[in-house]
Amino acid sequence: MTKFVYAFSEGSRDMKKLLGGKGSNLAEMVKIGLPVPPGFTVSTEACRTYDEQGQKLTEEIKTELAEAVRRLEKDTGKRIGDTKSPLFVSVRSGAVFSMPGMMDTVLNLGMNDDTARALAEQTGEPRFALDSYRRFLQMFGDVVLGVETERFERELERFRAQRGYTSDPELTADDWKTVISVYKKLIEHHTGSPFPQDPNVQLQLSVEAVFQSWNNERAAVYRRMHGIPHSLGTAVTVQSMVFGNLGDTSGTGVAFTRNPSNGKKELYGEYLINAQGEDVVAGIRTPQPIRTLHEAMPDVYDSFVRVTDKLEHHYRDMQDIEFTIEDGTLYILQTRNGKRTSQAALQIAVDMVEEGVLTKEEALLRVDADQLHQLLHRRISGDNNLQALAKGLPASPGAASGRMVFSADEAESWAEAGEKVILVRPETTPDDIHGIISAEAVLTTRGGMTSHAAVVARGMGKTCICGCEAADVDIKAETMTIDGTMLKKGDVLTLDGGTGEVFSGSLQMEEPEMSPTFQLLLGWADSTRRMNVRANADNGADAAKAVEFGAEGIGLCRTEHMFMDPARIPVVRRMILADSKRKREEALAELLPMQRQDFEEIFEAMEGRPVTIRLLDPPLHEFLPDKEELLIEVTTLELTGDAPEKLAEKKQLLDAVKHLEEANPMLGHRGCRLGMTHPEIYAMQAEAIFLAAGQVHAKPEIMVPLVSHVNELKAVKAVIEREAERVQRETGVHVDYTIGTMIEVPRAALTAAAIAEEADFFSFGTNDLTQTTFGFSRDDAEGKFLRQYVDQETLEYNPFVRLDEEGVGRLVEIGAHDGRSVKPELKLGICGEHGGNAKSIHFCETKQLDYVSCSPFRVPAARLAAAQAAIMHQAEKEVQPS
Ligand code: ADP
Ligand code: MG
Ligand code: MG
Repeated sequence: MTKFVYAFSEGSRDMKKLLGGKGSNLAEMVKIGLPVPPGFTVSTEACRTYDEQGQKLTEEIKTELAEAVRRLEKDTGKRIGDTKSPLFVSVRSGAVFSMPGMMDTVLNLGMNDDTARALAEQTGEPRFALDSYRRFLQMFGDVVLGVETERFERELERFRAQRGYTSDPELTADDWKTVISVYKKLIEHHTGSPFPQDPNVQLQLSVEAVFQSWNNERAAVYRRMHGIPHSLGTAVTVQSMVFGNLGDTSGTGVAFTRNPSNGKKELYGEYLINAQGEDVVAGIRTPQPIRTLHEAMPDVYDSFVRVTDKLEHHYRDMQDIEFTIEDGTLYILQTRNGKRTSQAALQIAVDMVEEGVLTKEEALLRVDADQLHQLLHRRISGDNNLQALAKGLPASPGAASGRMVFSADEAESWAEAGEKVILVRPETTPDDIHGIISAEAVLTTRGGMTSHAAVVARGMGKTCICGCEAADVDIKAETMTIDGTMLKKGDVLTLDGGTGEVFSGSLQMEEPEMSPTFQLLLGWADSTRRMNVRANADNGADAAKAVEFGAEGIGLCRTEHMFMDPARIPVVRRMILADSKRKREEALAELLPMQRQDFEEIFEAMEGRPVTIRLLDPPLHEFLPDKEELLIEVTTLELTGDAPEKLAEKKQLLDAVKHLEEANPMLGHRGCRLGMTHPEIYAMQAEAIFLAAGQVHAKPEIMVPLVSHVNELKAVKAVIEREAERVQRETGVHVDYTIGTMIEVPRAALTAAAIAEEADFFSFGTNDLTQTTFGFSRDDAEGKFLRQYVDQETLEYNPFVRLDEEGVGRLVEIGAHDGRSVKPELKLGICGEHGGNAKSIHFCETKQLDYVSCSPFRVPAARLAAAQAAIMHQAEKEVQPS
């Protein structure tokens, strides 16, 4: 026969699934001898049975419940409903994962006219007894009978007003008596039946109410959002009451064993004297900081400190503890692992190793790698409770304040004059680069996470919010209107690129740093992980930053950003617009020394570490101005007719833009397809790479983008090899280099064996591989339907954030396996944004990739995640030897 009810003494912390978090931890605390008021837990199994029986308690459950009450009566020497020594209990809900939306706790259950009188006589405190009774009526009425708590509040207010009172302490015992009868009438009026005086009925109704609350809409929505299975069910804990509202030697409070904000080892919490339950968080009275308990009740404080130490040692983690003091005696009512900021998580993990509580491996697993970047950007300090003006896409993290400007030129000139500015645009184009460079941050109203502004800002480690549709930007008037509030040029804004929030005015900031604690933990990570961690970096400055953050190489150096430099864009455009091969080669010859210098700077910054350089990837029209803007310029010039030469030039540009326009640029003339039709571009890039590498003795890894057929790679490889030979012959300097390819379309993964014959390495470009596998264009997907997909669980998660293991991951697996089958030494890496995501990194570990590559700011997180992946993968292998 299934057992449905467990006394605290029968449970333990390993029984979370059956007893819920609260119930199992209460049992555990009893086991280690802490002062916990006795009680029992009705299991999640009972909840499931209740549901299966059409929301009814079975006879078995009822019988077990009655037996458990009898046992509790024996243990406490009190009896439920007794008129001499009455027992009172709390009824508490407790799911496996703590979950808002579940039923609120009911305290003081067992109260009725008789037991309230008995409690008054027993304690000699009639006012306290009646206060407890009216609290029970209100909680039970609200939570179990569905009479909203506000109705009780209103009645109480009316009564106070009648008597001319301003606060509750002014009410006498007789006053509470009156309030109680008003409350009972309120309940009867709303439910159609009198308040149930029988404590056994009260208890049964409460248990059922908890089970029902598992099915309420709030709880269901929360579960869906967090992927908690409905079938888990909730447990109900019934516990004998201790009274924190029994006068000035009583009280109630909550405390963390360490500071949850910065991790410092100190008790952190608050309490209220003469109060019950939720009074501390309800905000009616201001609680006292926990350290003042030291003066108020030194003995209680000392025993509380002993308890917190014991709990922390036992759970080997920072605890969040709820306690009550009844007439000078301390009781512990709840403990759980405390929620904390990333900074605190880091500090606590490292401290606990030093204290000998945790091993280094355990400490590594305690810090959430995906949250770690919060420690590496400037951020808005403290917990500001400011209301954001608007929210856009958090395109590039960090925080920045500055004065709003609406053009790149203005951003530049204001910045030169020493102003901190925020560039606000509908969207940005390559023509705005100088403005982005000059600005503290960028805000756009259109465009997604891969829009120009987002990509460029991330590359620069600059704060950026994109697609902030709530903001209405008028470039001409130089205003931005949000929700009817109009801001104008020069007004100060603060952006939080981590959340996408836009604030008006300037907020206090904290500078990022890799604290010694941070470095220490990452040092442990480095000696634990198997995979290498590289960075995606496009210039010397980013490369240097990457090294500072511990990158062991560059996994992706994009060459297009070099082309977008404002000094070069005219040359790049000349190259694109050239109407003869000769003119194109002239422009390329001008670009060559610039590219060469870029590569030298990067190689120098990397000091011999491997650098993977990707040849030009985006479609050429990305280097040209926006078509609509050009159209307007041309029309205006035509109308005024005073600059015929300029008009001719603009017209030519417009023709080129029209000519290069593509129906599906993402699937169009880009990547190695450009190299196939314009080999001279790749030849110039290869030459620049070999000249630079020869100069600083680097070993470049040259990467060909968007290969779908091995013949593409063969052709491009021939161009590169020809340049290599020529440069080495002409300079007399030998260069060690390798040639590899991105695997970013399904066909490449599926034909990896053939491609591997021609490649020294594969780098899985999982951004494009995700787009091409799903057939989603990312910007359209994220703007139009992906959120719904995730909200409604069509997809378990956003595949652009976390690698889709089943589909995209399967292609990675095939590519890795087939590639290695023909070339065991084939080097394998991943360079999509997934390279900085902990779950995706774990996946890469299971497929035994050699390295992950991510943005410089993500490198520390990736180092940690790679270590965690190594530890977990090892553990998985030990459980299921393959
Ligand atoms: P939550 O899940 O919202 O934290 P709890 O079940 O922990 O709800 O109950 C909230 C508060 O009620 C506790 O922090 C404690 O102050 C009070 N409480 C619960 N059970 C008891 C009890 N047996 N005796 C005294 N106070 C209790
Ligand atoms: Mg609680
Ligand atoms: Mg790509």
